[in-house]
Amino acid sequence: MFVNDCLNVNGDGHLTIGGCDTVELAKEYGTPLYVLDENVIRETCRSYVNSFKKFYDGNGMPLYASKALSCKELCRIANEENIGLDVVSGGEIYTALQAGFPMEKVHFHGNNKTADEIKFALESKVGKFVVDNLYELELLNNIAGEMGVTANISFRIKPGVDAHTHNFIRTGQIDSKFGFALETGEAFNAVKEAIKLENVCLKELHCHIGSQIFDIEPFVTAAEIMIDFMGKIKNELGVVISELNLGGGFGIMYTEKDEPVPYENYMEKVSVAVKAKSAEYGIPVPFIYIEPGRSIVGEAGITLYTVGGKKEIPNIRTYVSVDGGMTDNIRYALYQSDYTVVNASKADKTPDEVITVAGKCCESGDLVQEHTKVAEVEVGDTLAVLSTGAYNYSMASNYNRIPRPAMIMVNNGTSRVIIKRESYEDIVKNDI
Ligand SMILES: *Cc1c(COP(=O)(O)O)cnc(C)c1O
Repeated sequence: MFVNDCLNVNGDGHLTIGGCDTVELAKEYGTPLYVLDENVIRETCRSYVNSFKKFYDGNGMPLYASKALSCKELCRIANEENIGLDVVSGGEIYTALQAGFPMEKVHFHGNNKTADEIKFALESKVGKFVVDNLYELELLNNIAGEMGVTANISFRIKPGVDAHTHNFIRTGQIDSKFGFALETGEAFNAVKEAIKLENVCLKELHCHIGSQIFDIEPFVTAAEIMIDFMGKIKNELGVVISELNLGGGFGIMYTEKDEPVPYENYMEKVSVAVKAKSAEYGIPVPFIYIEPGRSIVGEAGITLYTVGGKKEIPNIRTYVSVDGGMTDNIRYALYQSDYTVVNASKADKTPDEVITVAGKCCESGDLVQEHTKVAEVEVGDTLAVLSTGAYNYSMASNYNRIPRPAMIMVNNGTSRVIIKRESYEDIVKNDI
């Protein structure tokens, strides 16, 4: 019935997560409320780490793509689970620093890192810069030179793999704002440039073919294309690049239509292809990074709302208004993402009422989900939207000056706040 087994129904007919009654959580902490199940997050981290042990002699490391949900507690958990971190901004670097994250295990991504961010990253001793373009390469080389340090770099490559996903989040093809294209020779030129420079050291090649991908095949193809490129670099330039970063994008379950593959299967298949291809070119088997974001936190999280109104428009639809919306979950408004909605107060009842869940912003497009089935809704019920752990809080805004919700972590029947609810004072704190 639900996306994963951390969700259940108790004797009161209420939805539970991690052994906690969601209706009680809503009462105790208020709504809207983000709830994360710690065990689901840790188990997913472990399955990625173990897949390297099992299929690749431990010669690799997952990096948590922190843009999915960047906060101190997630950085701490990633560190405890022996995984590294991806960041894409000074703010995400700052969060990692504040959490005491080991910065050598941080990769810095982004297609427009500013000079200030680059300086900050070098001062913070970020492990690797994933360089996106030649301007950045030059800027980084100059700043590192001024600071008297060497920056370890990777190049973001567009392998040209189409990963059959939503257009807005597809990034592997030539027409993408990210990275260097292989087909045009742009990537090869960048490598030639990098090896001439004094203050950068090219260690790794990177690709990321998209998001919410359910096939393993495009990942295998991308890995093969990347090793072909490493082979070409060795043959033509005599340079051996020893690390390969294959990005993230592993699909999760939002609704019953989604069929994620077990995350282990990924390294099982990719390792075979990588080993065979490396042998073909006589290059050492590379150290591999992968960058799961959504799959680490997505299914672990739910959002709880309180129903404040219901508007039946005969022969058209029934709007159910909740106390959050596009400010805490922009994904339906942005790209019509599917979600499973559950009436958490009546989770034992058949979901036979078709509703549209509307947010509270002054925006007709502020919908959380349209024409979705839930058990008959009354004002005061707690509604749960499932699989909201990724790209919800991290994309949240203060539109209409709505404070961002709190986030709590549940674990075997206990709960604790990991991000406080914003206050009205927070809302005006930078106003002069
Ligand atoms: C967004 C992103 C990821 C994570 O993608 P998910 O779909 O959340 O797994 C990993 N690497 C890079 C470079 C990204 O841009």
